[in-house]
Amino acid sequence: MGKIHYRTCNLCEAMCGLALEVEGERLISIRGDAGDVFSQGHICPKAVALGDLHSDPDRIRSPQRRVGDGWEAISWDDAFHEIGERIAEIRTTYGRDSVAVYLGNPNVHNYGSLLTLLPFLEALETRNRFSATSADQLPQMLAAYLMFGHQLLLPVPDVDRTDYFLMLGANPLESNGSLMSAGGIKRRLEHLVARGGQLVVVDPRRTRTAELATRHLFIRPGSDAFFLAAILFALFEEDRVHLHRLEPFVQGVAELRGCVALFSPEAVAGRVGVPAKAIRQVARDFGTARAAVCYGRMGASAQEFGGLAAWLVNAVNIVTGNLDRPGGAMFTTPAADLVEFTARLGHRGGFARWRSRVRGLREFGGELPLSALAEEMDTPGQGQVRALITVAGNPVLSTPNSKRLERALARIDFMVSIDLYRNETARHAHFILPPTSPLERSHYDLVFQMLAVRNGAKYSPALFPPPEGALHDWQILLELAERLTTSRPPLARAVAMLRNGVLQWLGPEGILDLLLRFGPYGRGVRPLGGGLDLGRLKSQVHGIDLGPLRPVLPGRLYTRNKQLFLCPPAIAMDMRRLRESMRKWEGNGAHSLRLIGRRELRSNNTWLHNSQRLLRGQRPLRLTLHPSDAKLRGIEEGQSVEVCSRTGKVEALASLTEAIMPGVVCLPFGWGHGKKGARLGVANKCPGVNINELTDELFLDDLSGNAGLNGVPVTLHPVDLANLSPDGISGETDELR
Ligand code: SF4
Repeated sequence: MGKIHYRTCNLCEAMCGLALEVEGERLISIRGDAGDVFSQGHICPKAVALGDLHSDPDRIRSPQRRVGDGWEAISWDDAFHEIGERIAEIRTTYGRDSVAVYLGNPNVHNYGSLLTLLPFLEALETRNRFSATSADQLPQMLAAYLMFGHQLLLPVPDVDRTDYFLMLGANPLESNGSLMSAGGIKRRLEHLVARGGQLVVVDPRRTRTAELATRHLFIRPGSDAFFLAAILFALFEEDRVHLHRLEPFVQGVAELRGCVALFSPEAVAGRVGVPAKAIRQVARDFGTARAAVCYGRMGASAQEFGGLAAWLVNAVNIVTGNLDRPGGAMFTTPAADLVEFTARLGHRGGFARWRSRVRGLREFGGELPLSALAEEMDTPGQGQVRALITVAGNPVLSTPNSKRLERALARIDFMVSIDLYRNETARHAHFILPPTSPLERSHYDLVFQMLAVRNGAKYSPALFPPPEGALHDWQILLELAERLTTSRPPLARAVAMLRNGVLQWLGPEGILDLLLRFGPYGRGVRPLGGGLDLGRLKSQVHGIDLGPLRPVLPGRLYTRNKQLFLCPPAIAMDMRRLRESMRKWEGNGAHSLRLIGRRELRSNNTWLHNSQRLLRGQRPLRLTLHPSDAKLRGIEEGQSVEVCSRTGKVEALASLTEAIMPGVVCLPFGWGHGKKGARLGVANKCPGVNINELTDELFLDDLSGNAGLNGVPVTLHPVDLANLSPDGISGETDELR
């Protein structure tokens, strides 16, 4: 029996407690930690990837410099020196915005990176900042900023106490919960149904979550905002709008009523594909439930009306008095309060403070929409992006119209990737800077404790010491920040260096200790007495449960006079676009096809596909479609089909199922490996189809700028089986053969 080490899994948002058995440097097993106060033993198949990732021979362990078609290992000093010089040169020649940065999703699972990204970004001084946010939850953040005054103040479904859960475009049985951290979400949803509650899933697919639901409604991709507007219409019409304790500080009820006035259930039924009677029933049940919560995720946010949908989700909760109420949509009170911390630093968010150079897309939270990245690189002119730094990201697979981005990257003047792997994106870099593996660093969920269904805290020490000479992400970021500040005026540079020096000295643990001490449960500077600090947290290896979510409004609002803006003008104006879309609809497009994405349990975006155990037995990833659509096009089960959109085409095997709505086809996202030069031995053997060769950088939510990854118009036709490769995939795979 080896030694047991307890830590939190940082691979997805669920924060499962793990018990890892170790003998010396060898990881023997990974199991769910039954004593974990939050997840109580839950674990999913992905957890084993932590071990695979750590021992993966493909993982890069020292800085790499590209030399012709090959790579060579170099020292950290040389790498930082050359990168600093090259970036300075590009900035001097082309201006500060000529250097862009892309931040990938793993950063939010890494508290060291989160706490040091700010000085790094400030040192870069570029307005060309991009991240995975604008292909995901940006609409929810925009709604939070405009309604509650802080982009991170996101309501979370109080799943354990609700009686009625209305879920749009979410599939937590595969994703394990998103913007709703809940270890063991399946168990929690089963409990909801077992105690007589209702789970209503609205989705173009009958997903595993929908199978568990008390009711499933098919909905046309991209029409969630119509559905929600109709729910609100019915609530107003049937006099079910009661704000209860929210009443004194909510502004804009009459304006909201005006916004939804044209969207009766009868008017939108054809557009959304849900019968008016069913919409009215949902509104009635929601409005009369003791406690109800409405929640939307990727399917509702990553689409052309994502901003409106995110806003209307909040509006449904507010007008029924279900915001900030047990069993409704609640806010956390995290032990290390990132919301308050960032607010104190002056970073509550921001919207439309500047626009992208080429298309004039609006900034949000200091970033531009990811859909603009490729055009900022490949469109000549003043301010053109000439260099890119990626931090834990793989935009070549995760950006709409990824082929365009790939072409732009192939011609970029200079590129640096901070990454564990030479992935499909990093293969274009001139330098790759590899951080330590997740098991070599300590862990605290700064972001996901903020999105959890219960208040809690847990610290995980590093399992293995970092190898000699290895650097953590935060050390790389601070070192780069240091090298990039050289061009600043002397005083600004001195201040930045002083701050970076303090951050270096404190490290993530020191900063976390301060956040805990001065947070809502903290002990402050008292040497004796109660209260939380890092020392106390470390002594609780299974974490500390800080209780169920509790009402915090209006105190936690960051708006003027602590008012909640139910109908922010910047969002409400976008209702014009919704009205216009309904006017144009009139039943057209009945035979057109819309593409949506899906997540699968053994996958996590693009970055776990080199895990031997997760990929074992992986079958070709199929395109799912309804038998009626297949019949119309002469497509049979298992046949190879070509899917085309404005941006490209891919081939995949067809899988016919009645679990998808007619008019909708579906591919998993995160795939498309097998690119020449990528060092991903396992993933390259099972490349899959890249859905983002079909998604379109011009198809986006005009309001928020979020990518429209769902509801993309496509055409479909069968292709000759003889053209198909043995794994059912065509295209880039050939590069490796
Ligand atoms: S559900 Fe998420 S956090 Fe839990 S074990 Fe799986 S990947 Fe890790």
